Parts: sequence; C-alpha cells; structure tokens
Amino acid sequence: MSIIHYIRYIKPQRIYSRRLFLQWFNFIEKSQWWTKEELFNYQWNKIKVLLNYSYKNIPYYQNMFKALGAFPEDIKTLKDFQKLPYLTKEIVKDRIEELLPPNYKNKKNNFKYFTTSGSTGQPLGFYLLPINDIIENAFMIQQWRRVGFKENRTTVILRGEPIKTDGLFYKQRLSDTWYFSSFRLTKYNIKIYIDKLNNLRPEFLHVYPSSLNVLINLLLESGLKITFSPTAILCGSESLNDFQRELFQKVFNTRVYRWLGSAEQTTLAGECESSFNLHAWPQYSYVELLNEDGQEVKEFGESGEIIGTNLHNFATPFIRYKSGDIATYAGNSCRKCGRQFLMFDSIKGRTQDIVYLSDHSTFPIGPAIFGIHEDYWSLINFIQIVQNIPGEIIIKIDTRADKELLIQKLTPLFNARFGRILKFSLEFSSDMKKTKNGKHIFLIQNLKPGS
Ligand SMILES: [Zn+2]
Repeated sequence: MSIIHYIRYIKPQRIYSRRLFLQWFNFIEKSQWWTKEELFNYQWNKIKVLLNYSYKNIPYYQNMFKALGAFPEDIKTLKDFQKLPYLTKEIVKDRIEELLPPNYKNKKNNFKYFTTSGSTGQPLGFYLLPINDIIENAFMIQQWRRVGFKENRTTVILRGEPIKTDGLFYKQRLSDTWYFSSFRLTKYNIKIYIDKLNNLRPEFLHVYPSSLNVLINLLLESGLKITFSPTAILCGSESLNDFQRELFQKVFNTRVYRWLGSAEQTTLAGECESSFNLHAWPQYSYVELLNEDGQEVKEFGESGEIIGTNLHNFATPFIRYKSGDIATYAGNSCRKCGRQFLMFDSIKGRTQDIVYLSDHSTFPIGPAIFGIHEDYWSLINFIQIVQNIPGEIIIKIDTRADKELLIQKLTPLFNARFGRILKFSLEFSSDMKKTKNGKHIFLIQNLKPGS
C-alpha cells in the first residue's frame, strides 16, 4: 500500500468518527469502575432525557403518555418508570412510522435503516443514528479487552460475512483482519482452511459458535492439527452451549469469551476476566430482568425475560423493550472483578423458541435441547426443529456420527425430556434453512401464535 493510497483513505468523516470513538472508549474505561450509585445516577439522567425527547418528538410515546394521562415529569422514580408499558417486537414491526421523529427523512439527520433477521427469520426494521454504531463498537472493544483484545492484531472472522470473491478468505484493507467463509466449510476444503489458520496464527478468532463447531468437526475428522493457540476466541450473536465452550477450549487451548448483544441495541452483556457470568453494561442500556408477573427477578438462578432501554438511540427510541431473551439472575455485582453490574447467566434460548402441544399449550423447546451434556452431542453439527402440526416436531440433525448409533442414543434422551408431551421424528440432513446473514436458525415454526 503506497502512502498516496493511505492518505486517500483518511477522510475527515473517519477522523471525526475515530475521535468520537475514543471519547466513548475512554469514558467506558473509566466509568466501568463507578459505584452502584454513580452508575444509577448516570442511567437515570439518561432515561429522563430520553423520556422528554420521546414525548416531544415521537408520536408513539406521545400517545402512550396521553393514554396514561401522564407527562415525563411524572416519572420521578424507578417504580414510576416500570409502570410504562413494554415496547414489543410487534409494535416495532407494525408501527415503525410512529416510532420515528417527523423529521427522520431529513438527510441531515443521517438516520440509518437497520434490519435484523432474528432467530424467527422474520425481519424487524428500525433506525439508528451513526453515533450508535460508534458507541456499540466502543463497548464491544472494551469488553473484548478483558481477554486481551487489541484492534491491530491478526484476527480471523468466521461468521456470516459473504466473501466477495470466489475464494474462501479475504483480507480487510489496511488491517490484519481476515474474513473466512462460513459457507464453504466442507471436507474438500478443510485442509486449505487449517493450513491458512496455521499460517496466519491469528491472535483472535471472532466466530459464530455454529460455524466454528463445523470447522472443528471437519478438523477432527481429517486428522489435521492446529499448531497455534490464539489469545482468545470471541463468541457472540448465537448462544454458546457448554459442550461448544469445552470443545473450542480443548482444540485451541485458549479462553472462550462470550457476550450477548442485540441488533436493537437494548442489551449488551459480556463475561469478565475471571467469570463466565454475563455482565450487563449499565452505561449502554437500562436492563430489567422480569418474571412472567412482571416482577423483578432477584433470586440467584431464577429466570426472567430481559427488558431493555437503550440510553443513546434517539432515532427509534427503544423504551422497556421486550427482547424475548430469557436469562437467569446471577447477582447485582461481580465479586471477582468488582464491577457493579447486573449479571445473568445461561441464556435459555429465546422465548420465541416455542412449540405448540396438541392441546395448544406452549412449550419452550430451547432449554430442552440445549441443556443436554452428553459426549456424543458434540458430533452433531446442527440441530434444527421444524414444527408444522401442533403436538409434533421434526428434529433435523446434521451430524458426522454414525446415524444408527445416534438414533439409539437420542431417542431415549428426547423421550425422557419431552416424549410424553410431544411426538418427534428424527431426520438426518445437512440442508438447513439459514438466515440471510448465514446464521443458524434453531426453530422453524410454521404454526401461527395461538395454534
Ligand atoms: Zn466480573
């Protein structure tokens, strides 16, 4: 790369963005050690600003306050705030125009339309400000720093990014970041992938757990060896099962780091240096963990749904957003690192991972499948549940194990877990529907709610 090329690359917009990024980065670094009270005061001030802004500018929230017969000034305590109705995915989907300020089409505002496929495969569209991406990035890199991440180190990304050329890899301009294709991982290509990895010796692997799982299964089948040990493996976007963590750790001999984020930016929580609990960033969003009665979950191990309020999105304000993510409470601060953050653990799949029984009641299928810890489980590349009829599911399995053996092992296991309430059939197939971004879909629910 010549110096001329490099100078062309430096645009004023990039310098401005970098400055904003560093401001946020430094703020997060310092404020992560604040006391509980300091963090809460920060959140509360941001919530007040957001409520006032939304009341003045966003038709949906104007109507909400009107229906409540209240004004933002009436929200004086957290208890008052928790009386505000939830924002649901359905509302965002059906009434997005009402969730935007009237001037959102004004180019000066630079609102960015964003869609997420989610695990249901149904897109949800909303708007963000350019600053939201910068903020997100600053939080993300701060949390990866807990396991030694540095921006300029060799990183291999094995996620959903399509590779522009026909090749299996490509290198990002002016960085040491490599993109590996998740879509061409086959036994015919595996040697090329492993040779490339051993040659690059990346310090960080940033992966979808399902993609790395496929790579490892092919690696083990091939008898090839990994000859380096990265500083950390960074796993986000999909849930990371215990067997995957152990497998990744064993094969790469390194720390496997997990975080939970959401495209809607209402929650961001990552593990810390010395614990596997997810620590929710209080400077990013206000997170409530609520049980089915809407009560705050405060007992260790008790589960609840994550309700999040993003503190920085003034394009489409998400206030008390029902995320659909279920987590178990793991404390109000971390004794190991000292951060005064809400902590949760074992994301139990998503509430939309619901199947219907023959009497039309619902059953969360995620925990029933993901709580399994059997050795042969790691021989399975993917599981996909398909439901077409109430009371019955098809379990599609992509595996490198002996199919007869797997049927013998899985049938009693599934029978014990849900066989009494749900008929199931096993189908072996490597042809599974994925999201547009290449993410694995756990449940293909072809029945409508209330089926
Ligand atoms: Zn901690």
